[in-house]
Amino acid sequence: MAEATGFEPVRACAQPIFEIGALVHSATPPNLLYYNGSMRLKHLFPILVYFFLLGLGAGNHLAYPQEIVAQESWGLFATIPPGEITQGSVLGTGNAFSAGEIVLPIVGDMLLAHVNKTYALPASYVPPHLTPITAVPTAGTQLLRSSVLPYLYQLFGAAENAGFNLSIVSSYRSYATQVATFNYWVSRYGYSAATTGSARPGHSEHQLGTTVDLGLAGKSWPTGYSISPAAGWVAKNAHKFGFVVSYQSGKTAVTGYISEPWHIRWVGIELAIELYKQNLSLEEYLSHQ
Ligand SMILES: [Zn+2]
Repeated sequence: MAEATGFEPVRACAQPIFEIGALVHSATPPNLLYYNGSMRLKHLFPILVYFFLLGLGAGNHLAYPQEIVAQESWGLFATIPPGEITQGSVLGTGNAFSAGEIVLPIVGDMLLAHVNKTYALPASYVPPHLTPITAVPTAGTQLLRSSVLPYLYQLFGAAENAGFNLSIVSSYRSYATQVATFNYWVSRYGYSAATTGSARPGHSEHQLGTTVDLGLAGKSWPTGYSISPAAGWVAKNAHKFGFVVSYQSGKTAVTGYISEPWHIRWVGIELAIELYKQNLSLEEYLSHQ
């Protein structure tokens, strides 16, 4: 018994050592190599698929948290304020600027006016030569500077050739309209939340008469438009016609606004192309002037 128990462990141990040695020192049989290899792939494959899918699902959240915020916020400010909200209901129709806001002087054509959350246009500012947009579909009567109309129509023509039937959801907004609109959102969500999705009166680029919000036939606004290929096309082509997407994705920290792929402003072809090439937002450009 003592002999047998002493012997068995040695054999049990020696056997695998011998086999490993044989594998190392002898030519490896091709079928064994193939077998081992396929077993590894078989085990690795579902793991790789798992991480791939994990990456797909989490990628957007990790890389573009602002995009998630944008999609959640887009719907909040989608409806048009009802008509019974009057212009003077909260802020009044006169200048309603508070501390920390800077009212811009009116100099020249104001095409490159630095309108943002700090700088505002005066309540009295009305851009020159406001003209109804007639050649493309609009939500009601929409006005734009006559000098910008040809560029807008060319943009729409190019979009149509690319298969996108764009429309104008909104264009020029007077100071009084901004007061009414902003008041509506304040009454609905409170002041702080309203400022995240709606410009305070005077702070909207729409008061310049060079800015439009784009929509797409058959799609909801703004989300349906924003997630459509049309929005991607506009982002890649608007500059050719002198427009910039003022509030681009990935620029929220700079602009203070969530991504607004529908909101384009005319700044001239030369500057628009330059900003596009350098991946600069208009805000970045104007704040360094
Ligand atoms: Zn807009």
